[in-house]
Amino acid sequence: MSGGNNTFLGMPAFPENAAAAVQNSQLRFNLRKATHTIRGKRAGVVAELPDWMELRQAGKEIKDHTLRNLERYLLQLEEAVTEAGGHVHWAADADEANRIVADLVKATGETSVVKVKSIATQEIGLNEALQAEGITAYETDLAELIVQLGDDWPSHILVPAIHRNRSEIREIFQDKMADWGRAAPEGLTDEPSALAEAARLHLRERFLSTKVAVSGANFMIAETGTLVILESEGNGRMCLTLPETLISVVGIEKLLPSWRDLEVFLQLLPRSSTGERMNPYTSAWTGAVEGQEFHLVLLDNGRTQVLADEVGRQALRCIRCSACLNVCPVYERAGGHSYGSVYPGPIGAILTPQLRGMSSAVDASLPYASTLCGACFEVCPVAIDIPEVLVHLRGKAPHARAERLGMRAAGWVLNRPGRLGRTQRLGSRLRRFVPKRLPGPLSGWTNTRDIPDIPAESFRDWWNRTDGGAR
Ligand code: SF4
Repeated sequence: MSGGNNTFLGMPAFPENAAAAVQNSQLRFNLRKATHTIRGKRAGVVAELPDWMELRQAGKEIKDHTLRNLERYLLQLEEAVTEAGGHVHWAADADEANRIVADLVKATGETSVVKVKSIATQEIGLNEALQAEGITAYETDLAELIVQLGDDWPSHILVPAIHRNRSEIREIFQDKMADWGRAAPEGLTDEPSALAEAARLHLRERFLSTKVAVSGANFMIAETGTLVILESEGNGRMCLTLPETLISVVGIEKLLPSWRDLEVFLQLLPRSSTGERMNPYTSAWTGAVEGQEFHLVLLDNGRTQVLADEVGRQALRCIRCSACLNVCPVYERAGGHSYGSVYPGPIGAILTPQLRGMSSAVDASLPYASTLCGACFEVCPVAIDIPEVLVHLRGKAPHARAERLGMRAAGWVLNRPGRLGRTQRLGSRLRRFVPKRLPGPLSGWTNTRDIPDIPAESFRDWWNRTDGGAR
């Protein structure tokens, strides 16, 4: 068994993954049904708030202010957590974070952990790193459990098993639950309540027998050292309170300066993510409680590098609501696995290449995994201008030599009005010889597009000849 969070390393570029994914009609059906349901619910509850745009602006400004003063607030957080009896660890990258967590678990003498709400630990491949140390990590969010039992990859930020339907989930439970603990009940049906009950029984046993928990957090309050998790299943409560040791791995951008700021995000996040006015469970804890040891691992893993980019840094405002995924026409058809990252969809297309760099085929292709329609920007509760960052990253992505030469030639022509005019006149003269289809490797462009007809006279020449249409 793998840790269930297989990494995406070595995946082909987005177009290849997407071309394969769109052939899967079941996947397209599942995605369309789920994303359209959530997006409809979101639109309904957002429309209820007359001050939604003001809230959105406030969320943006709080996050920008925090990111501008990140060092100060991180130090304030560290002091507050330590004062409240917790231990703070700083991890520059994935290896360091994994080593810290593995050492902490080993120090307890335990060989298993329960996990809740932590996409950051998927980003760093924590399950695999723990497995290499003989420690088994058990996912407890229902969708994460489905992904883990199915030896699968998450494909959505909020609903990681969105690509699975009920009957597939029933099969996974029947086939795999017994390998990981309590088996699925006899005669399990694919009714949602029956599937939820099977997961509840399976997980309850795990909660009561595991002494170490690993969590993430939605927010960290610098002023008090408080961590906050929003969830819908109650597994967060179990993970945060039952184990004797709690280790939270959180990205450094998850900070908010004060409790007052949280009020804005407690309105923005549930409405944008699950389309609810309020999420069912909000857990907050400060430092260590009696009988429990608490460790906070603050994760950088490329975030300070993102912060250094004036355009790209807005991606760090993200509160992982997944609203941008649910409205994206590309995500809806290509599915989450095509993005080769635990961060799929529009936010993944701008965050992953910044966190990981663009040296692999899949990472270099991500800024192009968009039509730039702008739907993601419209729904983002913290106003991240995703299309702007995509275009910015396209400029930084590696380009083929032929493309670079082509762009340089176009720049040379477009740079001088005289040159452009002469080139247009030459084009008009030779227009009969321009083929409808380009040859060789360039045919990829004209397979799906028509080359526009070149007019007999350019607009500039017509303007000059007719004095702007007056003659
Ligand atoms: S980019 Fe915006 S819409 Fe997308 S997940 Fe992040 S906060 Fe939500």
